[in-house]
Amino acid sequence: MLPMANGNSYFNDLRIKPEIIDPPENDDILDVGENVNEASESALKPNVAISSNVRELLECPVCLNAMYPPIHQCSNGHTLCSGCKPRVQNRCPTCRHELGNIRCLALEKVAASLELPCKYQTFGCVGIYPYYSKLKHESQCTYRPYNCPYAGSECSVVGDIPFLVSHLKDDHKVDMHSGTTFNHRYVKSDPHEVENATWMLTVFSCFGQYFCLHFEAFQLGMASVYIAFLRFMGDDSEAKNYSYSLEVGGNGRKMTWQGVPRSIRDSHRKVRDSFDGLIIQRNMALFFSGGDRKELKLRVTGRIWKEQ
Ligand SMILES: [Zn+2]
Ligand SMILES: [Zn+2]
Ligand SMILES: [Zn+2]
Ligand SMILES: [Zn+2]
Repeated sequence: MLPMANGNSYFNDLRIKPEIIDPPENDDILDVGENVNEASESALKPNVAISSNVRELLECPVCLNAMYPPIHQCSNGHTLCSGCKPRVQNRCPTCRHELGNIRCLALEKVAASLELPCKYQTFGCVGIYPYYSKLKHESQCTYRPYNCPYAGSECSVVGDIPFLVSHLKDDHKVDMHSGTTFNHRYVKSDPHEVENATWMLTVFSCFGQYFCLHFEAFQLGMASVYIAFLRFMGDDSEAKNYSYSLEVGGNGRKMTWQGVPRSIRDSHRKVRDSFDGLIIQRNMALFFSGGDRKELKLRVTGRIWKEQ
């Protein structure tokens, strides 16, 4: 661990000269600090100060991501992540010297000694993780933000559930309903064009949770089909506590589906491609629509309930 005595000077020194990353072992070196009188806040929380300084050193100057082994450096000591190295044509992006193939083992070792808070701290995660296992945790962290569940466009918005609910309402103009039952009509005048898939999303709130009802047309092999399914706005572990049913019919016929909502962690495409929903062949959908089969008019009813 880092020496705690004479802490102030050491930490101040570290702030002034961030390139010094190895804790000096000789106490004499610790007395060179110039701002000893400025007992800064960082000195009160030494580990935090160290971490944030070292963390800056571990930031790749090109992509600004945290660097993981192998960390590369030029002959002048400028560092670079292994992802960016192949893209800089053997030139150090900082000093333009030839990059070569030098690994920065010292920085890799310093990184191994670090423990850092999960990057989703602001979303509520209180975990502290060793540098090299932090990434793995973050890929699984239950506080990591969700992707926008809207399927009709490539939307890159991420956030927690309350944020995404307002985003769906305000930016995608999605219909919002509250209650455990629903009755929804899908009308399409040119049902023969499933290639330009129809995506429809409705958000339901019940049990203090939010659910996305998806309805869309797609091509399944040679057949044009419609699929309706529900996704839960939350993690899979919680989604399992709910069930739902969907019904579609007409002309005295009826199809029923009962399922478990999928978490929005699973992409809408993944759910669709696993056929985890009510699938209606287009011909049957047109039959249910009645009339002259020129127009799709489907009434989908459903219910959400909580499993005991
Ligand atoms: Zn990089
Ligand atoms: Zn350089
Ligand atoms: Zn976390
Ligand atoms: Zn969106």
